[in-house]
Amino acid sequence: MSDNPVVTLRNVDFNYGATPALKNVDCTVHDGDFVSIIGPNGGGKSTLLRLMLGLEKPQRGEVRLLGTSPRRSRLRVGYMPQHLQIDASFPMTVDDVVLMGRLSGPLPWGPYRASDRTAAADALSACDAIDLRDRPFASLSGGQRQRVLIARALACEPAVLMLDEPTASLDPAVQDEVYALLKRLNETMTVVIVSHDVSVVSQHVNRVFCVNIHVSEHCVTEIPDEISRLFYGPAGLRLVRHDHDHTHDHLHGADHCE
Ligand code: ADP
Ligand code: MG
Repeated sequence: MSDNPVVTLRNVDFNYGATPALKNVDCTVHDGDFVSIIGPNGGGKSTLLRLMLGLEKPQRGEVRLLGTSPRRSRLRVGYMPQHLQIDASFPMTVDDVVLMGRLSGPLPWGPYRASDRTAAADALSACDAIDLRDRPFASLSGGQRQRVLIARALACEPAVLMLDEPTASLDPAVQDEVYALLKRLNETMTVVIVSHDVSVVSQHVNRVFCVNIHVSEHCVTEIPDEISRLFYGPAGLRLVRHDHDHTHDHLHGADHCE
């Protein structure tokens, strides 16, 4: 693990119109990190990822990605948005979907070069999905689709992988497979994911950013003991039972641990 910052946000505020989504955000992702962004629905997790990628611009503060502006370095990041629309009625094969990850322009089809096809095949192999390459995307199971979409994000041969809720709507066994895959990919690249699953995430990641308008970083060992309850409330006590009280302010403080 090196100390090279891959993503840095400094004093960032972001509003949608008059509504604040993120306030006074300071956070850094380092080279080799496996970061999970957790927090309640509407807390600003997807917005934070989009700011890191330069898909949104902050009204205040600065975002740096791979040593420059996100706009310049975005193509070196593999991104899986939260609501990726692949029209299931359009007869795309797995190969077609992964090749889309090679394009930075607006057209979802070629022309592709031999290097594009090699990169797509390598990405599918890295995700244990090369056997699926000729299958219609629409015919795949949920877990297979997620593998292929991760391969699509990998096809641009990124330095950083950013995935927004890659395990949402998968059953637990399949979620574990996806986390194992991401852990393996993290051996060669920085990985940032948004996840609701605090308990599973804590076994895999080395940093946790808790997002609820403010962003605070927590040690992996702190979850699920307190953060799970703070974010998900008594209903979120899947793994935690706690009787002592935490104030909400705790999350808003400068609570960093290295
Ligand atoms: P999360 O990913 O944690 O669920 P989001 O980053 O999607 O949260 O959203 C943060 C807040 O910003 C929410 O209150 C949401 O309703 C609002 N929001 C998100 N996208 C938009 C948008 N395009 N226009 C207006 N408000 C938005
Ligand atoms: Mg979201």
